[in-house]
Amino acid sequence: MEKEGKKVVIIGGGIAGSLVAKNLQSHAHVTLIDPKEYFEITWASLRSMVQPSFAERSLINHRDYLTHGDIVTSYAVNITETEVWTAEGRRINYDYLIIATGHADHVPKSRPERLDQFKEENEKIKSADSILIVGGGPTGVELAGEIAIDFPDKKITLVHKGPRLLDFVGTNAADKTLKWLESKNVVVKLEQSVDLNAFRDGLKIYQTSNGENIVADCHFLCLGKPLGSTWLNETVLKNDLDFLGRIKVDEQLRVKGWSNIFAIGDITDVPEIKQGFAAQQHAEVVARNLKVMIEGGKKQCNRCGTETYKPQLEMAIVSLGRKEAVAQFPFLTIIGRFPGYIKSGDLFVGRTRKQMGLNPNI
Ligand SMILES: Cc1cc2nc3c(=O)[nH]c(=O)nc-3n(C[C@H](O)[C@H](O)[C@H](O)COP(=O)(O)OP(=O)(O)OC[C@H]3O[C@@H](n4cnc5c(N)ncnc54)[C@H](O)[C@@H]3O)c2cc1C
Repeated sequence: MEKEGKKVVIIGGGIAGSLVAKNLQSHAHVTLIDPKEYFEITWASLRSMVQPSFAERSLINHRDYLTHGDIVTSYAVNITETEVWTAEGRRINYDYLIIATGHADHVPKSRPERLDQFKEENEKIKSADSILIVGGGPTGVELAGEIAIDFPDKKITLVHKGPRLLDFVGTNAADKTLKWLESKNVVVKLEQSVDLNAFRDGLKIYQTSNGENIVADCHFLCLGKPLGSTWLNETVLKNDLDFLGRIKVDEQLRVKGWSNIFAIGDITDVPEIKQGFAAQQHAEVVARNLKVMIEGGKKQCNRCGTETYKPQLEMAIVSLGRKEAVAQFPFLTIIGRFPGYIKSGDLFVGRTRKQMGLNPNI
């Protein structure tokens, strides 16, 4: 096993970056740069808000799966042809660079702090009689579903700016989801936004863009997070972003025009729905290709046997509480217990832990 040889630097310890780091650690000198000390299974976070103990399995210290790579807890702020610079002023040399900075999110640095944050959010839910959720994408819908099932007595209002929920999937899935939420007494208001500046704390009244008043004890903002690529605007990759800020990649997930820089996960311009299972596939393909390139480099044939990535079919599953979900498959959209059986019980946490080389149960 090669460890001393090539230096592989991975920026971003989310779904894609953590997996590629884990898979390459025995084949190269791996350095993972992430502002958090832990890997978070992102789609388990809403369950963790209604059941904080759920996060014990979905928050994993990077050191638990990356047993012999280097971990740098910091933001990357610049890259050159040979180095990555971190916010703390470190300069880290690379032979191969993998960018996996997905979406920008501000979560605590340490795992205990993140666990505490879930407990605080849980207290906020438990102590409220009425809850406003702002945003009807997957986060807002899954949160509404979790609260509606675990706390059926809470009065939930979901306000969404667009004409339908879940605009990343088809209208059929959106319509079924709306009916499901309404059947659980969630009040859904479409084509409206909430002016949070006009929120009068003492009175607990929120005003919508239509001038409606919503009374709620607390609110949760579930708006889409920006891509984690703005920091690249001042780097050697500044011309490699598309108009949405996504990194342009070739069919082997190399940044177009670069032989030793890759990008994986949500940050890329691969034409597919941005999903964790696609990000995991990106990580697997790049890890396998880099192993071939590192080994092949020694045999003077550093691209022989590399594979290409094929974009995923248009599939998505959005959980609706603990037992149900809405699923969009290529030719079928269904809602209820069957898709719920696939996702909603364990939210793929056991499967993801296993993929990271960890015990699925603890
Ligand atoms: C509510 C919800 C439910 C979902 N459910 C599913 C599902 O059931 N199945 C599914 O497949 N997908 C699901 N997804 C989508 C999935 O979460 C994303 O597609 C996935 O997280 C993308 O992985 P990533 O590694 O590209 O980015 P991320 O997971 O966003 O990770 C990015 C990482 O980069 C780090 N980072 C950012 N900037 C920097 C920087 N400058 N320097 C260093 N590090 C940086 C971040 O801290 C983070 O660790 C869901 C998403 C949401 C919101």
